[in-house]
Amino acid sequence: MPRPLEALIHLDALHHNLQRARDSAPDAQVWAVVKANAYGHGIERVFEGLRSADGFALLDIAEAERLRKLDWRGPILLLEGTFEARDLEWCSRLNLWHAVHHEAQIDWLAQHKTEWPHRVFLKMNTGMNRLGFTPDAFRNAWVRLSALTQVDEISLMTHFSDADAPRGIAHQLAIFEATCADLPGERSLCNSAATLRHAESPKVRGDWVRPGLMLYGAVPDYPEHRAADWGLRPAMTLRSRLIGIQHLQPGDTIGYGSRFTATAPMRIGVVACGYADGYPRHAPDGTPVLVEGVRVPIAGRVSMDMLSVDLTDVPHASLGSEVTLWGQGPAVAGQPTLLSIDEVAEHCGTIGYELMCALSMRVHFEVLHPHDA
Ligand SMILES: *Cc1c(COP(=O)(O)O)cnc(C)c1O
Repeated sequence: MPRPLEALIHLDALHHNLQRARDSAPDAQVWAVVKANAYGHGIERVFEGLRSADGFALLDIAEAERLRKLDWRGPILLLEGTFEARDLEWCSRLNLWHAVHHEAQIDWLAQHKTEWPHRVFLKMNTGMNRLGFTPDAFRNAWVRLSALTQVDEISLMTHFSDADAPRGIAHQLAIFEATCADLPGERSLCNSAATLRHAESPKVRGDWVRPGLMLYGAVPDYPEHRAADWGLRPAMTLRSRLIGIQHLQPGDTIGYGSRFTATAPMRIGVVACGYADGYPRHAPDGTPVLVEGVRVPIAGRVSMDMLSVDLTDVPHASLGSEVTLWGQGPAVAGQPTLLSIDEVAEHCGTIGYELMCALSMRVHFEVLHPHDA
């Protein structure tokens, strides 16, 4: 029998969350962002759940190729564009749309031989200061691109740094608007946070939104909002089982470094999940886990293959009991249970993005179709 740890992918949740993005940005088209192997979920595994998107956005040509192998004929956008001149051959061959964010990418296009002009997304740096042309250089880049026979339609894009936070998007939006005011082309501005929080304004939602995280059912602005507040459902459940039980007396300790010391007689459950699976090693005591759907705290350091939980609040737990590390737990008294990846991440000083992307190769995945229990 394989180790009991597994990651379940819920196709119905992906489909539902995509619909939530559409509801938040009516009339906009939706790029389903599937970079980083669909945020750790697996491109092939999520494809069925997200195939009603208008296009897929990612960064890696190898990942784009995987989408084409799934017979996806619709738009694919390379969010960082080309990394070198010969990437353009792949863009032509696979019919990829690509971001253009620096001058060398325009030089490469000017040298590129292709029968099919490329659709490009010209990126403006409106204050994030990661990728993109400054507002001063943007119009000149647009003029250069529009003179190239290798280029078809030019869309205009930017990315917000604080869509999930108090600073907000107004300062960046103003720069984008002022710089593109009289330029033709479709607009794309919103990641998940902007889609959820700011896309009621037509200027903000533009023609294409680019949600990633929310499709997987995590929230960009936790704990201000929780998944339920945004109507999102977790698309991944990481679950395992208890593979050991220990009875501790006061003064006994758990695991490496004896981080946790029992102050009373207690039962400890040992879970088949550790940092070699991608569970964060720095999860402190108190990080929540569900055992048989009941919240219990981690006690003691996470080790490579195992972690330990305090079973005081689940006296009926026993060897083989179901453990939910995050996602959808078993029903208790007829009620579904949930443990949000956002909450686990917060305990661990990180964000849901990092946890879902970090699951390791040895984790066994299973895709659950809507008709599965
Ligand atoms: C990753 C990414 C997104 C999606 O961001 P989320 O916060 O996951 O919604 C959108 N746009 C660009 C340019 C990105 O790199």
